[in-house]
Amino acid sequence: MSIIKKVEFLLKTYSYYKPFHIKGGISAQSTDIEVKIKCEDGTIGFGEASPSFRVNGEKPEMIMTMEDFCQQTLIGQNVKEYRKIFQITDKLFAVPSLKAAIQYAVLDAFASYCQMEVYQILGGATKSIKTDKTVGIETLDNRIKEVKDIVGQGFDVIKIKVGEDVKQDIEFMTSIKDLIKDKKIIVDANMGYSVKEAINFANSTYKAGIDIDVFEQPVYMTDFEGLKSVRYNCPFSVAADESAKTKFDVFRLLKDDAVDYINIKLMKSGISDALSIVEIVKSSNKKLMIGCMGESSLGINQSVHFALGTGAFDFCDLDSHLMIKEEEFRGKFKQKGDEIFVD
Ligand SMILES: [Mg+2]
Repeated sequence: MSIIKKVEFLLKTYSYYKPFHIKGGISAQSTDIEVKIKCEDGTIGFGEASPSFRVNGEKPEMIMTMEDFCQQTLIGQNVKEYRKIFQITDKLFAVPSLKAAIQYAVLDAFASYCQMEVYQILGGATKSIKTDKTVGIETLDNRIKEVKDIVGQGFDVIKIKVGEDVKQDIEFMTSIKDLIKDKKIIVDANMGYSVKEAINFANSTYKAGIDIDVFEQPVYMTDFEGLKSVRYNCPFSVAADESAKTKFDVFRLLKDDAVDYINIKLMKSGISDALSIVEIVKSSNKKLMIGCMGESSLGINQSVHFALGTGAFDFCDLDSHLMIKEEEFRGKFKQKGDEIFVD
């Protein structure tokens, strides 16, 4: 029987190999919550919440207090009727990472019940994606060394964090110009620039001969007008990340003509809104990327199967599991360099 009989939460803390510095904070650890759903026939589904206070205002302790509520609400539900469970969990506005973890665990259990993989339940569009790797904010020398390492590892797409000091950021970009000339480049300011700083950054790098494929979240999350101003006054495609949490945010961003790309993260939207966002963005002839918070391999697995199943993404930024120490790899996927795939 595919009826849920048990829901369990498990708090887990992972250390980063080295502190990860972006605009707005330095992370030495990531605390995630594993969600385990067990059905009457013994079928098990796993999900993971990676709460972000910076983006969602969530704390791991908030998630853990929801365990009793989730048991009361989910026990007795049938994973074969997962849209019913999505409707219930769409109410978890204050804890979107938990919404993602439960919705994925339900799909994982349903897929096991059907003897299928989640990416097949979601459409089976492709069996392989490529991920980028991220350069955090560090000293100029360390940033350059990191870029060299990532190029050496064979990654075709490099994500570069900026947003704390526009002058230093321009100097850094100019100094890696030759290193990255054959690479695709995503620059993420994590809301750190003013509109003027963002336009200055983009135009200065452009004049220096650097091509940026995606300029992500240059200004604060609520400043949709600002995103639009940057988009209209710089030569690069602009993406919303922190601005784009729910399907309603994305609808407004596109209606306002504010961005070229939406960065979907399951931790902001859950599976249900992420599925809607894919269709809204495609209908608007805009483009999609998919990103992550501080997920372990268990949590990255969710975004990997979402990306494989929908086949909707021009860029995949799914590298948090490469940055944290784990005793056991939990993904139902394989990885060779920048290629992530299933058999
Ligand atoms: Mg981002």
